[in-house]
Amino acid sequence: MSFTLHGIAVSSGIAIAYAHLLSHTSLEVAHYVLPKRFIADEIARFDAALQATRNEFSSLRSNRPSYAAAEFDAFLELHQMILDDPLLSVGPREMVEREHCNIEWAIKVQTDTLVAQFDEFEDAYLRERQTDVKQVVARLLKQLSGQPGHQPAAARRDVETILVAHDLSPADLIQFRPQQYAAFITDVGSATSHTAIVARSLNTPCVVGLHHARELIREDDLLILDGEQGVLIVNPDKAVLAEYKLLQSEWELERKKLKRLRTARANTLDGAVIELHANIEKPEDIIEAKENGATGVGLFRSEFLFLGRDQLPDEEEQFEAYRAAAAGMKGHPVTIRTFDLGADKQIKGAERVANNPALGLRAIRLCLAEPQLFRTQLRALLRATHYGNVKILIPMLSSVSELNQTLQFIATTKQSLDDEGIPYDREVKIGGMIEIPAAALSLNVFARQLDFLSIGTNDLIQYTLAIDRTDEEVAHLYDPLHPAVLYLLSHVIGTANKLNVPVSVCGEMAGELAYTRLLLGMGLRQFSMFSAQVPSIKQRVLTTSLPEIAALTQKILRSDDPLKIRELLDKLNA
Ligand code: PEP
Ligand code: MG
Repeated sequence: MSFTLHGIAVSSGIAIAYAHLLSHTSLEVAHYVLPKRFIADEIARFDAALQATRNEFSSLRSNRPSYAAAEFDAFLELHQMILDDPLLSVGPREMVEREHCNIEWAIKVQTDTLVAQFDEFEDAYLRERQTDVKQVVARLLKQLSGQPGHQPAAARRDVETILVAHDLSPADLIQFRPQQYAAFITDVGSATSHTAIVARSLNTPCVVGLHHARELIREDDLLILDGEQGVLIVNPDKAVLAEYKLLQSEWELERKKLKRLRTARANTLDGAVIELHANIEKPEDIIEAKENGATGVGLFRSEFLFLGRDQLPDEEEQFEAYRAAAAGMKGHPVTIRTFDLGADKQIKGAERVANNPALGLRAIRLCLAEPQLFRTQLRALLRATHYGNVKILIPMLSSVSELNQTLQFIATTKQSLDDEGIPYDREVKIGGMIEIPAAALSLNVFARQLDFLSIGTNDLIQYTLAIDRTDEEVAHLYDPLHPAVLYLLSHVIGTANKLNVPVSVCGEMAGELAYTRLLLGMGLRQFSMFSAQVPSIKQRVLTTSLPEIAALTQKILRSDDPLKIRELLDKLNA
């Protein structure tokens, strides 16, 4: 029987392959009482499973494949921490000793307590971490059942398969990667979950939130997955299959064609020069950036290099990472953002609890409050300027006093390098991220003192609309086309252009085709995005004429009617 399911599109591409079901570790376990003489064995069984699960994590960490997203280490770290939480690592043992129940039951009871604690969190991001708890417990139960590794029934090599699971952790995705699944689908999950981020970095089509897919699909069912639209067709008829085969080959052809644009310059039809840069998280990412034709790095999120560690690295280690990126880009600009730590990106062991982390001590606020941490990074960054075209970018500026303090820090760090005779680029460019509405609205003071500006639309939208970008319950309200957002964007781009201060956009909007012409029409000439997005954005630039889009862009900016704005945007993109 053929049927269609709709879920949340997470990673694009079309896959046509056979279903391969991942056995679902249910947290529903039996409860029985053990005779006293079996208690020691039951506890030994638990200790062995606990240790085997720990070993599984360590082996995943030390064999971290190069294709894994930079955040992967942090996710694994989180799972290890959950496993070592006394509620999971000690509580079940004590319960077996006390109540003589089977260990699986004790684990279930402790898990329920832990999950209930996560349920209490007001912060949606923290609430969502109960998914991680369940994933860790599933691993532990798999060990106890004698089927470790959370592996599918049998790895198939004869035909292409799509992995169908109730849920997948980021670690699962990385483990399954060598088996070359054509796609991943899950019953649960959200677009901002860690699993979604890792799936995108693996470049494998993925749709999550398909509810009962795992129950409805049988082993070897033929599946069509459209990772762009979030559609799954089970056992398609011949006509649908033929249609999607055509779509799939067109999609692949398109990707190949786009790759050929690698060396083409990104000029508009009327000859305006547009710079397309890459967002990276670690020096190795520049390989992909260059493969996709990025002409620079517009945003190096330096904090991702070191997430999930107990301490930030010393000056030497940081210097080596920045130097490697700068040297690798061979004279092309490499814009390194100082640590944007705090909020959802915390150093292990130094986590801060704040009522509103996104409004708390994060990014430049944290750096100014921790002078030692900031000075170490600035020394490493300045030293790296000697080895390439490094620019320094300051995140989350909101007031001129923060800017002045930051510039003062940079000046004293330069002085100390001078005193020690250490070379650095004296003309190093210092830029600021415009991602807080206050900074956008008082742009002149920032533009006057900075060499360049970079608009972080992810945060700018979050703070303008007061919508937590990680909270799936308000995700539908997150709207880049809100008239207030468009006003701020065009104000910042227009003012920077008037003042002759280079400005770019490095938030997600820069990599979304729907907004390329709109941003070009506002006067943007520099975009920074995930490397894989560069070719398609370049193609859009190559087919755009600035004089032709000018009038429509102005109409969009004058409108305060959301429906009209969307209608005009469709016209602009037609
Ligand atoms: C942004 O806010 O748009 C941005 C690029 O920074 P991040 O996503 O790292 O907060
Ligand atoms: Mg930001």
